[in-house]
Amino acid sequence: MATFGTLSDRLTETFRNLRTKGKLTAADVDGTVREIRRALLDADVALVVVKDFTAKVRERALGDEVNKALNPAQQVVQIVNEELVGILGGEQRRLEFAKNPPTVIMLAGLQGSGKTTFAGKLAKQLEGEGHTPLLVAADLQRPNAVTQLQVMAERAGAAIYAPEPGNGVGDPVKVSKDGVEYARRQQHDVVIIDTAGRLGVDAELMKQASDIRKATSPDEVLFVIDAMIGQDAVNTAKAFQDGVDFTGVVLSKLDGDARGGAALSVASVTGRPIIFASTGEGLDDLEPFHPDRMASRILD
Ligand code: GDP
Repeated sequence: MATFGTLSDRLTETFRNLRTKGKLTAADVDGTVREIRRALLDADVALVVVKDFTAKVRERALGDEVNKALNPAQQVVQIVNEELVGILGGEQRRLEFAKNPPTVIMLAGLQGSGKTTFAGKLAKQLEGEGHTPLLVAADLQRPNAVTQLQVMAERAGAAIYAPEPGNGVGDPVKVSKDGVEYARRQQHDVVIIDTAGRLGVDAELMKQASDIRKATSPDEVLFVIDAMIGQDAVNTAKAFQDGVDFTGVVLSKLDGDARGGAALSVASVTGRPIIFASTGEGLDDLEPFHPDRMASRILD
């Protein structure tokens, strides 16, 4: 992915330097780790995550369990790759569907993170897979949010449950709950609840999101985060993890010139898998997130 371009170039260069050497020395490892550290910081991976990551790589590269069948450069590449894939979630994780429909998927994240757009994309994808998703407009904070979701629903060809336009001062918890009930009655097998976001993390927003979570018992709570968020990724992700305890992550705007470090930061500090990569404003710009592919792209 182009997002990791800078990271890749840097590491490729670093590994190329290593490859010329016959044996891996402590000085080699330190030099390489320094470069990896710099590359990750340049890619906007949070400092705390970078420190942790490079310490692990260093320890393993100098440890006994290195694969002696590989040359030094290959050894470091393998270690870095394994650590990256590990942090990014190991195996690719798919959406969990409920045994007894409807499957309830709640979205949470900062305003502008791409929640509403993702809701439309997910609805369209699910439609294409034979599901009958219902979008629920529980973002009653932003004046245009309900209308925006209605537009998304129309474009995605999906049904929507929304308060009447202009009647925006409703109760998002009730709307969410009623939406799930409506889905049950109308036999929609998936419910996607779009919740309110604020420009910054705030207690009221978290309480509301947490109340919606309690009221609807979602099968998935997806935290949508803008890949451009950079160093703020850690605090934002932790706040949402504490506030709503999300089950998975959607990394949005991966098509922009985000450095992509948010992927590593969020996955590392929350331990939650990234499930989707959102890669554009179009409804089809949605991909499953592949930890291994992302890691090898980093090392390309
Ligand atoms: P919300 O406030 O979290 O619901 O965010 P929106 O879904 O309204 O998205 C905010 C802005 O980001 C809109 O202009 C979207 O078109 C844009 N956007 C959302 N997802 C993506 C994406 O994956 N790539 C790009 N380039 N833009 C996106």
